[in-house]
Amino acid sequence: MPEYKTYEQKKRFYRSKPWQSLREQALERDHYECQHCKAEGKVTVDSIKTPGERKEIVLNVDHIYPIEDYPKLALVLDNLQTLCVFHHNVKEGRVFEKKKSKWDDEWW
Ligand SMILES: [Zn+2]
Repeated sequence: MPEYKTYEQKKRFYRSKPWQSLREQALERDHYECQHCKAEGKVTVDSIKTPGERKEIVLNVDHIYPIEDYPKLALVLDNLQTLCVFHHNVKEGRVFEKKKSKWDDEWW
């Protein structure tokens, strides 16, 4: 059973062919829409690529059960959801942590 605990292991996984093709399947299944925005009644789709410019990436394919803890589910389509950058950060706790520390500052 492969492990995805370290940055290197994850990087290798996210570059692998099986992941790249499963990722495409997840995006197609979700119609290239953020599933959390969709639940809120909003439509967030990927940005359009401008020729000659680097594409701005908006959508992430997220593992509902993180691969660190559930390596078995790394390549299971049902464990994937398409999220915009904002919702992906919320899920990973990045936005929340930032808010929380601000709140702590004010509290103390
Ligand atoms: Zn979203």
